[in-house]
Parts: sequence; structure tokens; C-alpha cells
Amino acid sequence: MAATGLPMRGPRSLLRQIRESMAGGGPVQARLDMAVRIIAQSMVAEVCSLYLRRGTGDLELFATQGLSPSAVHVTRMGPGEGLVGEIVRSGRPLNLPDAPNHPAFSYRPETGEDPYHAFLGVPLLRGGRTIGVLVVQNRTERTYADDEVEDLQIIAMVLAEMVAGGELLAQGALKDVEIAPYKPERLKGVRFAEGLAYGVAVLHEAPVAPEQLLSDDVAAEEVRLQAAIAALRTQIDHMMDGQHGLVGASFEVLETYRMFAHSGGWNRSLVEAVRSGLTAEAAVERVRSEHRATVGQARDPYLRERLHDLEDLNDRLLRHLSGEADGAARRELPDNAILIARNLGPADILEYDRGRLKGILLEEGSAASHAGIVARALEIPCVGRLSGLRDRVSQGDPVIVDAETGEAYLRPRADVISALEARLAVRDQRKAEFARLRDTPAFTRDGAKITLLMNAGLAVDLDILQETGAEGIGLFRTEFQFMVAEELPRFNAQTALYERVLEAANGQPVTFRTLDLGGDKILPYLEAEREDNPALGWRAIRMGLDRPALLRLQLRALIAATRGRELRVMFPLVATVDEFRTARALVDQEVAWAERRGRPAPSTLRVGAMIEAPALVWHLDALLPMTDFVSIGTNDLMQYLFAADRGNPRVADRYDPLSPPALRALKAIQDACAETGTPVSVCGEMAGKPLEAFVLIALGYDHLSMPPGGVGPVKRMVLSCDREAARRGVLSLLKGVSGSVRSEVETLARKLSVAI
Ligand code: PEP
Ligand code: MG
Repeated sequence: MAATGLPMRGPRSLLRQIRESMAGGGPVQARLDMAVRIIAQSMVAEVCSLYLRRGTGDLELFATQGLSPSAVHVTRMGPGEGLVGEIVRSGRPLNLPDAPNHPAFSYRPETGEDPYHAFLGVPLLRGGRTIGVLVVQNRTERTYADDEVEDLQIIAMVLAEMVAGGELLAQGALKDVEIAPYKPERLKGVRFAEGLAYGVAVLHEAPVAPEQLLSDDVAAEEVRLQAAIAALRTQIDHMMDGQHGLVGASFEVLETYRMFAHSGGWNRSLVEAVRSGLTAEAAVERVRSEHRATVGQARDPYLRERLHDLEDLNDRLLRHLSGEADGAARRELPDNAILIARNLGPADILEYDRGRLKGILLEEGSAASHAGIVARALEIPCVGRLSGLRDRVSQGDPVIVDAETGEAYLRPRADVISALEARLAVRDQRKAEFARLRDTPAFTRDGAKITLLMNAGLAVDLDILQETGAEGIGLFRTEFQFMVAEELPRFNAQTALYERVLEAANGQPVTFRTLDLGGDKILPYLEAEREDNPALGWRAIRMGLDRPALLRLQLRALIAATRGRELRVMFPLVATVDEFRTARALVDQEVAWAERRGRPAPSTLRVGAMIEAPALVWHLDALLPMTDFVSIGTNDLMQYLFAADRGNPRVADRYDPLSPPALRALKAIQDACAETGTPVSVCGEMAGKPLEAFVLIALGYDHLSMPPGGVGPVKRMVLSCDREAARRGVLSLLKGVSGSVRSEVETLARKLSVAI
């Protein structure tokens, strides 16, 4: 620390003084004035001013020592205005020897700041949000020393906690200060996983509590930090080493991650923060806040993704510091927790207690992101793309996840809560009704048996299988295991999962789909090449055939798990018959390999193709004789038929699967399968929606595989449906001349008294 000659130098004694002077209570303004006076004295500054951010984004002068007292609550800077606006924008300190000469300087005559040249301002950061600015000024031109900057940053950090925690300002005095948003708000986002939930906000990246901010022994704290960083690096190196040679893909993404972990800059910032007196945890929070404030503004998605990597590293480091290095421990949650995060990485959701996690709100992400996929699998309502979310919600706030409309209500009003409770009650009633239907076989009124199957992808899905009353798993998405893992699952891990699936199915059929990676499903540890058109790129079976070692390892694991039972396996995104032929040959080779080694071959082998690429629809005469069954992935088939990216909300809703072209394609497939006697099912999302499923049944489909939540509603529809009447009605709609026949289908279903 620079010698200043003052006895009370250093943030620790200074903070003690501030706290002591606050303890006596007294009027709010007097307490704030006292705080800035003590800081000015300690920093040997002629001016010390505290600005806080109002709901409008304006920064208001709340207290000052040295500037004109009449400017307090009068001087306001618009967002981005002046030097303080610059500090909010950058989230970084600003250290200027001659402030009036800075281009961003905004002169305010009422403050009387003319004679002051030296300026040091630091942000009051809380949970990555700048809630104010603390400034010291001196008459003489000079640059403040690094340790002075550090000291002021620590003071600002603690002040931020004190202000937010109500130690400096009573809640009433906060008015619309942007420290802790308190007004009801509604944010519009995108639905990632359907449902409704009401609970309390739990921040995934919660800021540390004030009492943990300062360390007792700087040297010991540095040793603790270095040990945690070393352990983190070893863990990441180990993750990387596990990848060698398995597949030839580049490891750019994980390399970047490793690079961050080893980066001198990150390390230095952390060490400096600890040397300035912070605990290692507080140092991580501070460095994280600075990164968020700067990189978080970047528009470039690549940069933002890298920020996510850094966030992840910070989280890992915190876990090492707290001794739960493997992250295995489940995170504590209150009842009815609603998780709030910018985005969630692989396995993040699984770390929380499923029984208490009622909903998820994300600032970013996409329905196809990991979080979206896992949330749907676990049936946790999830809304994403809620711009500004983390800035608008504090730990413990009441929040509503409305994943029917894709909205979030923060601190909702009583009337909004009662409306939600009414909707929840209706949902519960319907759930109870579906539960009663669980063991009723799904026959249409005119006696057609419809087999309802479930889509799954994670071990956690299996718990729901019996609950839904589904008659098996029509689509097991094997890539999920790869997506939620932190490294490529080995042979044993794959085999173990497939065994669990077969056991949970208890003799009911399970159709495994081989890895459907690439496109929107990217592995952080594997795929690196960025493609201009990932949905049309190197994905699914294309990747499998180019990397036969990976595909064969999976087939081997499937055969091993089958242990003499039936094996049903299908390939995703087959676009040509040759692809299917080659893939099928790999299955045969693996079965022969197992037999040669005296291992049990599957009792029955069924190999199928997913119909997702439109080209295949016009080559069914060649394909069907080679397959044992086909399954239509309508999510992809529709995106390719209509040339509309299913993951892009701007175009995903532009077409309707209930339209003449889509229905004609579906009818052509059904007709071709009927003619050749090829078993066919539909396993895209539309199979789980009663109205769409009504049309599929009318077109002749009798095997539908769907998300678990769809089984009850679809069964109710089936039980109320006369298939022959539905067939006649739907066939007449195929000649329609508009882009959608949805309303005609609805009218038809109502006329036939079908429960949709
Ligand atoms: C589909 O495309 O319809 C499908 C079932 O596969 P996925 O959603 O996993 O791409
Ligand atoms: Mg698909």
C-alpha cells in the first residue's frame, strides 16, 4: 500500500469506521454523508461522491463530501452521460489526472467541481450489475496509484452490499433506485419447456455475502486461491487428455476453455484482488463482475459464448474453493425454487434438487440449447431469451414462469398471482384426469388400436415412463448423454445407460437412435468447426459415417447392453439410401464381432431409418425394402420441407405442419409404408399435440412417440375419436389452397366431438 501518512489507511479499518458510524442509526442522508466523509478523509481526497442508479437509468448524486451540498439529489446524469456514465457502461474504474479534459466529461455548474482535476471513479458492482459509482477527486493533477484504485474498488464493493442490504439506506429511501428492482415487471421471452410455475428466484450465479468479502490473512488466502486454481487446471487438463484419439475432430472449444484457465491475465486479476484484502471467493466475484460488465455488452455471439466459458470457469473455481470440486453435491434450494441464469451449461440443471426446482428463467439460450432440452425432459417449465432478466431480478424475489405464453412475471401483483393459481388448478385437474387414463388402452371409438410411446434421452426420463402409461420408448435420443456430460462418455458409461433404459422399459420396446450430433446439438468438448449452415451441415448420420469408430463404439455398447434381448436401432437424418445401406452394414459387422467373441447377439435385430430429409420421401420405394421400420422426425422434416430453421424463433412459426403440403408428404409416407407393410411411427413433437395427433391418426398412423407430457392429452383425444370419420374429413382438407388448414381441422374435430 502507498504510504499516505494517515493512521487509518487500508480498506479494512475504513470499512470498520463506516460500519461503526452507521450503527448509530440516524437520518439516512446523514449516514450517507458520514460515509463519503470518512472515505474522502481516508483517501486523502478533497471530494468523495456517491452516485446511485435510478430506475430510469439516470445516475443521481446521493451524497458528497467536497462538492456543493445543494447538488445532492439534483445532479443527475443520463445513461452513458459523463464520466460516471462511462464507468457504468464499461463496469471498470476510470483514473484520470485531468478529468475536465476527458471527452466524456460533462460539466455541471451546480456541483462546483471546477477546481478538481484528478478523478478516480469505480463502479458499485453487485451481481454483475452496476448499481452506482463512487468517485474521489483532488485539485492537483495526478494519477491515483494502483493500490488506491484497489482500495476504492473494495470500498465500493462493500458499499454496494451495504446499500443493497439496507445498511446504508432504508428501503423506503431507495424509492426507484436501481439497487434492487422492486416493481412488478413482465418480461417477454421464448418458451423452451412448457408449463406454469410460481416460486422464489434463486440466482444460479449468486453474489457472495458481504461477511465473506475480506480475508483475515492475505498470504494464507493467496495460497488457498493458488491451490484452487491449480486443482481447476488439473481437472480441465484431465478432461482434455481424455479426448485424445477417439475422434479426429478439433478441440478448439475446449482448448479455448483450457486457455482461459491457464491465462495469466485471469490469474493475475484474481491474485491482485486477493492481495488487496479480498477473500478468494470475493476476488472471483469481482473479476467475474468486471468481465460481465465489459464482455457482456458485446454483440458478437462468439464473444458472448466465450464469456459463458469464463462464467463456467469462475463457477468451477468457486466449487474448488468450497471443497466440492467435482460439483457432485446437489445445490441447496428452497421449496418452489425458480432458477435464474444467463444461460445454463451441460449438467447444470441436473445439479439441482429436482423436487424443489419448479421453473427456470434464462436471459439467453435457445429451445435447442442444453438447458431447453433438459428442462423439457424433466418437465420443468422454462422460458428463455428474457432480455435484461438478471438485471431485473434479485435473489428471493417472487417470480412466475409462464411457459404457456413465454413470459416471466417478476414480483407479480396479487391479481396476477391469483389468475395464475386458477390456471394451475385447471392444470392439476387435467393431470389427475390423465393419470386416471394411464392404464386404459388407447383405442379409437371405432376400435383402432393406437400405440402411444414416449420420447426420452436421459436416465431421469425413465422415472416417468411408468407414470405416463406409454407402451415403450419410441425414440431414445442417445446424444443427450453426450450433451450433458463434461467429456465423451466411454464405452462402459454408454452401455450402462442403455442397460438402465432397457431395464426401466421392462420388456416394452425401446427404439434407440444413434448419435444425432452436430447442427444445433454441439458438444463443448468435441465439435469445433464453425459451419455457415449447421442444420444442413456435418451432422447426425453424416458424422457417424465419417467417424465410424464413434458410431461403431456406440453400436457395440448397444449390442452389449441388449444382452440377448431385442435391439431396435435407427439412424437420424438419413438423406440417401446409400447412407442407410452403409450404416446398416456397420450394425451387421458389430453383431458379427460380438458373435465371434461369443457374446450374446440380440434376439431380434430391427434396424430403421428416420425420415427427416425430404429427398427420402421420394425414394421410399428403394429405402423401405432395406429397413425393418421407419420413424418420421417431423421436427426436422418440416424444417427442411419449409426451409425454415426450427431453432430460429423468427422463422420457426412461419409455416404450419397442419397444411396441405405437409399433410400430403405425411400421407405419401404412410401410403408407401402401408403398401410395403413397413412399420412406421411419428416421433416429432407434433405427435404429442392432440390436434396434430388427430390428423396423424386420420392419415393412418397408429404408432406415435412423443414427449412424456403429451401421452395423457393424446390418449384422451384417441379415446374420443372415430378414426374413419376423421379420415374422411382430413382427406378432404388435403386439397386445401391456403397455407394452413388448422382452423378447418379444429372445426372438424369439434364437429366430431373429439377432445383436443
Ligand atoms: C425430429 O426431428 O422430429 C426428431 C424427433 O428428432 P430431433 O428432434 O431430436 O431432431
Ligand atoms: Mg431430428
